[in-house]
Amino acid sequence: MIDLLFIVALTLTEIHFGVPLMYYWYAKTKWLPKPWNIKTDKNYTPKVTIIIPTYREAKLIENRLDNIYNQNYPKELIEIIVIDSGSDDETPVIVEKWASKHKNINLKLIKEKERKGKANALNHALKYTTSNIVITADVDATWPSNALREALRWFRDPAVGAVSCLKGPTHSGPVGVEEGYRHYYNILRIAESKAYSTPIFHGELAAFRKKLLKKLGGFPTDIGSDDSHTATLIALMGYRSITPETLWIKEIVPRKGYHAWRIRRAQHLVQHFQKILKKAIIKTSKRNNGEAIKTFKTILAIEEYLHLANPWILAIAIILLLIDTLVFNSFSALITLLLGLTLLSIKKYRVWITQQFHLITATLKNAWSKEIIWNKQAKQLD
Ligand code: GDP
Ligand code: MN
Repeated sequence: MIDLLFIVALTLTEIHFGVPLMYYWYAKTKWLPKPWNIKTDKNYTPKVTIIIPTYREAKLIENRLDNIYNQNYPKELIEIIVIDSGSDDETPVIVEKWASKHKNINLKLIKEKERKGKANALNHALKYTTSNIVITADVDATWPSNALREALRWFRDPAVGAVSCLKGPTHSGPVGVEEGYRHYYNILRIAESKAYSTPIFHGELAAFRKKLLKKLGGFPTDIGSDDSHTATLIALMGYRSITPETLWIKEIVPRKGYHAWRIRRAQHLVQHFQKILKKAIIKTSKRNNGEAIKTFKTILAIEEYLHLANPWILAIAIILLLIDTLVFNSFSALITLLLGLTLLSIKKYRVWITQQFHLITATLKNAWSKEIIWNKQAKQLD
């Protein structure tokens, strides 16, 4: 008798692994080698406002400010706005002290009484910005000294609306998994950017044209993924949202609560893609030729599939295999399950499965808490 359940499960498994692999292969061979088609200039140094949102960052904020101070960028062109949401630790005091010791750089500290979340704080800070380019900068990030130049040179071309970075972990915490996970995603981010734009940005360094932020009414406050969502809306407006291959930053991976951290971030990504999906018919911008927007819609559709549907296809396949094994005594199903477990010894595969688990948990968790205001994971520099 044909084991129908097994065939369905196997097909779902093939789809689950096949689609991302095909996409990766396509992006890497077709998009990654493409030229940028952007007129950049490494001597382009516009005035820039860096917004640093802080909540209980006493341990790391001084390092963060030093790191920005050490950028090889003219200090008179940098404006720093630290927006603190009622931290009950030393954060504001440390910022004030730092500012008084570094009078040659313009720093504003805004103290909110109440914590209403990161995006809310960013929008509050936006009102005080005086530059045409605004960069958001999480405290747990370390930039290389040329990061500002690398990010800003792209804005010479009016076609560019937003620029973000690629990430690697600093060497503390469970770096192995994080690195494996990052590699695949970094390649995709660059390839998508070259094709047109990427729908995933990183708050550790995310630069935006302020006039576009204004048009959007600031960052979205109803979802957690302020960076990616804004970048995507900007791309849909007909401007490019890119992560260049030359702009790498380091972020601290928490030692404790790694999975909780990853699940919260997955929750935000899922919220972002669900919100984009709801805008079923997206207006095609007049500004741009249809081809580029079309490519971006394809990128979006695949990323939506990968984040919202693909993990569930794996879950269903596993459930079917379990039923087939336990109820129908299927030997093929049992062997497939055992093979799946054995493969967990391969790092790349384990990293992938972990990510699927995070996305599924995230979607479920979103039903009762969107984590717009979240518990921070403790992070420390090496
Ligand atoms: P992660 O990078 O995803 O782990 O998120 P973090 O907890 O590190 O937060 C990212 C940045 O936003 C950090 O600089 C935080 O201090 C800051 N942040 C988080 N929540 C709030 C908030 O409610 N208000 C403000 N102003 N900043 C916040
Ligand atoms: Mn961070």
